[in-house]
Amino acid sequence: MADARYISTRGSAPELGFGDVLLTGLANDGGLYVPAQTPTVDWSHPEDWPHKSYVDTAIEVMTPFVEPSFGAEEFAQIVADTYATFHHDDVVPLVDLGENSHLMELFWGPTLAFKDVALQLVGRLFDAELNRRGERLTIVGATSGDTGSAAIEACRDRDALDIFILFPKGRVSDVQRRQMTTVTSSNVHAIEIDGTFDDCQDIVKAMFAHDTFRDEVRLGAVNSINWARVMAQVVYYVWAARRIGRGGPVSFSVPTGNFGNVFAGETARRMGVPVAQFVVGSNRNDILTQFFGTGSMTIGEVSPSLSPSMDIQVSSNLERLVFDVLGRDGAKVADFMMRFRGEGTIALEADQMNLLAETWSGCSVDDRATLDTIARYHRVKAMTVDPHTAVGLLAGEQLRVTTDVPMISLATAHPAKFPDAVESAIGERPALPDYIGDLFALQERFATLPNDLATVETFVLDHRSEAG
Ligand SMILES: *Cc1c(COP(=O)(O)O)cnc(C)c1O
Repeated sequence: MADARYISTRGSAPELGFGDVLLTGLANDGGLYVPAQTPTVDWSHPEDWPHKSYVDTAIEVMTPFVEPSFGAEEFAQIVADTYATFHHDDVVPLVDLGENSHLMELFWGPTLAFKDVALQLVGRLFDAELNRRGERLTIVGATSGDTGSAAIEACRDRDALDIFILFPKGRVSDVQRRQMTTVTSSNVHAIEIDGTFDDCQDIVKAMFAHDTFRDEVRLGAVNSINWARVMAQVVYYVWAARRIGRGGPVSFSVPTGNFGNVFAGETARRMGVPVAQFVVGSNRNDILTQFFGTGSMTIGEVSPSLSPSMDIQVSSNLERLVFDVLGRDGAKVADFMMRFRGEGTIALEADQMNLLAETWSGCSVDDRATLDTIARYHRVKAMTVDPHTAVGLLAGEQLRVTTDVPMISLATAHPAKFPDAVESAIGERPALPDYIGDLFALQERFATLPNDLATVETFVLDHRSEAG
């Protein structure tokens, strides 16, 4: 197998191998890294698929993306360790919904949201790569809820990492806060900021922009533009297509925010998985529905919904799809993104749009319809789904072209993560699974700091492991 090489969507950053792409995140020309060549997945032995485990599929699909930075044996061990943390034998179980529809449950990881599928792997890859280089990294991030706990679980107890997560005081749910503050590992620091989520994000951005600080603590990020996160998510599209499509075409409906999850599906398609349709589900923040409906999009205000992890206007990973649509021409992508950011609006050419429309469509689901869908699945199928999953389910029902092709909807969070919305739909509160049931008995540990950059930076300097 050839060495995996990565190029920037904006065409002027240096080409890198996997190890550097893992640690770099955003390319230095402002673009996102993508594979220079997409490997293909073997589609020739369907008789083997029923016997193949999720871990074996993951090793098969991802190894060509990581060589030679990670050797085959080392990587296989990391993958096996990663998915041993999931609480289901199939890792991402598939549930039959009838009428050739299926639900893929991505929430069996330690923090009950699909982000664990990628972050559990990325934390381990970071640690291995940094240890090999004899380097350390200080991860900082801001969270409005889900990403913080998934990142903390991924980085806890890893020698080469310290992690500092900023969350807004009084604005994350009790479950979400406790998932961050009850972790006892000494390299984990949850920080409550006396401010909003935007304030937290501004502090993180300012730390990255502060050169001397950034270099002194070697700042790193685990945000969703990191290629390794997309790569880890490609696996379950291959897995589901094999299990359910048995070689024939399948369609996916994906509740979408930053476009990382569904872009992993697109990568699987480029690797050879026969995908008939991608349905992109959005809440009332419907910029992607506009885009896939008309080929144009205009930035609006973010408006809060019952599916907060999808309250996003500009989906960073869309740039990776745009790169393909514009013929993988980095200069064109740079120009497209500059105009979009500058003017707040952008449109594709008609022929580019028609090409996309063969596979892609988008559907916006408001809070009322989200609650109705949760209630209907509870009543008709005796299933409890979270609000994000409900958006994807309804979008898939509405935009499905044919029942001849299996429709696979992605369940991105456990219902107990969003108990208020679920309770208002079905009249009862979903229980946390046993394996995290003692969350409310554990001692919380976190710092409370003012909304002030200098104070937060001093805290980071004083508390990272090296400082001792
Ligand atoms: C992050 C998240 C999403 C959105 O995924 P993207 O990759 O950002 O599109 C959907 N649902 C849940 C529960 C999430 O945590």
